[in-house]
Amino acid sequence: MITQTTSGNRGLLQAEPLIFETGSAETTGVDLPAPKGENRLGALTRKAPLDLPGLSEPETMRHFVRLSQKNYAIDLGLFPLGSCTMKHNPRLNERAARFEGFADLHPLQPTSTIQGALALMDELAHWLCTLTGMPAVALSPKAGAHGEFAGMLAIKAALEAKGEGHRKRVLVPSSAHGTNPATAAAAGFTVDEIPARDDGRVHLDDVKAKLGPDVAAIMITNPNTCGLFEPEIKNIADAIHAAGAYFYCDGANYNAIVGKVRPGDLGVDAMHINLHKTFSTPHGGGGPGAGPTVLSAALAPFAPVPHIVLRGEKRELREHAEGTQAFGRMCAFHGQMGMFTRALTYMMSHGSDGLRQVAEDAVLNANYLLARLKPHFSAPFGDGPCMHEVLLDDSSIKPKGVETIDMAKALLDEGYHPFTTYFPLVVHGAMLIEPTETEPKRELDRFADVMIALAERVNAGEVEFFKQAPTLTPMRRLDDTRAARQPKLRWRRGDNQAPAQAAE
Ligand SMILES: *Cc1c(COP(=O)(O)O)cnc(C)c1O
Repeated sequence: MITQTTSGNRGLLQAEPLIFETGSAETTGVDLPAPKGENRLGALTRKAPLDLPGLSEPETMRHFVRLSQKNYAIDLGLFPLGSCTMKHNPRLNERAARFEGFADLHPLQPTSTIQGALALMDELAHWLCTLTGMPAVALSPKAGAHGEFAGMLAIKAALEAKGEGHRKRVLVPSSAHGTNPATAAAAGFTVDEIPARDDGRVHLDDVKAKLGPDVAAIMITNPNTCGLFEPEIKNIADAIHAAGAYFYCDGANYNAIVGKVRPGDLGVDAMHINLHKTFSTPHGGGGPGAGPTVLSAALAPFAPVPHIVLRGEKRELREHAEGTQAFGRMCAFHGQMGMFTRALTYMMSHGSDGLRQVAEDAVLNANYLLARLKPHFSAPFGDGPCMHEVLLDDSSIKPKGVETIDMAKALLDEGYHPFTTYFPLVVHGAMLIEPTETEPKRELDRFADVMIALAERVNAGEVEFFKQAPTLTPMRRLDDTRAARQPKLRWRRGDNQAPAQAAE
């Protein structure tokens, strides 16, 4: 088998250095006129060359297309990354988001010229409130974690308004996404962990044992990060409220229950919604997200500005609205307009019945995968049905010398983005698989066949196969730890050794 080519290219995949390493500042794709007139920069005139990359137009095109080919995308294949809801982004959303009246706005335009955009935001807010059974929503948070931050700041403001600013403790189950404790800490609270139980769920008794006059809130994910619905959620909410605290629900997994359950009916006080998960706006690759936070009547007055207020026929953006005590603002302007447009397009094209079916199909797909994989892997909570994701652990592969990371790397050779590895932390060597509702049975079967074939290789003792993987990718095993500990964030000329390649 060829492992190295003279060019560094593999098959039809081209090797690609950094743009700085290929180009030179003298080359350009455009013919700029020489600057006219005198230099008015005075002492600020640059003394050394800028060291910009320079490429001709075709070279530039090729550079970025080659880079894009090194990437995996939801438009290439199944993307089973658990907790991330990597579903198909309908192209209809993209068309709506590109309409001039939505795409070409400036945030400081007079509101009389953006009435359509404000109406769209209002309509989105209406859908989010109706679906969740909550009276208010802050649209401006720009990610799930940012939405958590908005919710926790609203809770903090509500407590302070009641003279209960001494409540500082926030309860967080150990299965929580890392953003939950991080958000609580960033908002000035202390985090008290509720230990995991063998069934992967939060128990009312464990919550009650932690309650006290210093508890500000609980942060629970439902369905939780083990892919399970929390059956005691309503009783937990009641106990939290009886103790004078608030219930923050992490709504990142809302895809599994949208149209089926209204979080407001479960006693939720604040919940962020990842538009980029549930409502099919693109995510990954550092693209913009949006994390609107729905708020209960108790927290609504503290929602961040701006407010959209309807006066007669016209909508206005207000920094203050009657009866409100906003805790502040989440970002410079109003949030991610492009994401709002995409999410509302998705909602309106599905309708309420279609959204309910989203949840049903997401759960059905996950249970289909669970049923196919369970005989071949260890599924720690696999006795009952799961919600929208399948959680496996490493107890069936580790004794045979294969780790979760090796399974993930072997999937790369098979042309799949790996599942989520080592999360949630409450099970050992977690492999969290979320197929989403947009995968047809054919795709699920192909993926299951690959997973089962890998399990058979584990059973056949092919440890070396797994330790070598991936062998077919442009890069082999990278030193993740070094990349995290010593990130190289800046390129300097002379730095350009070939990227570290695992020994062939
Ligand atoms: C994705 C996710 C978050 C964070 O959302 P971001 O948009 O990535 O900030 C929080 N909690 C859970 C359970 C998630 O899956």
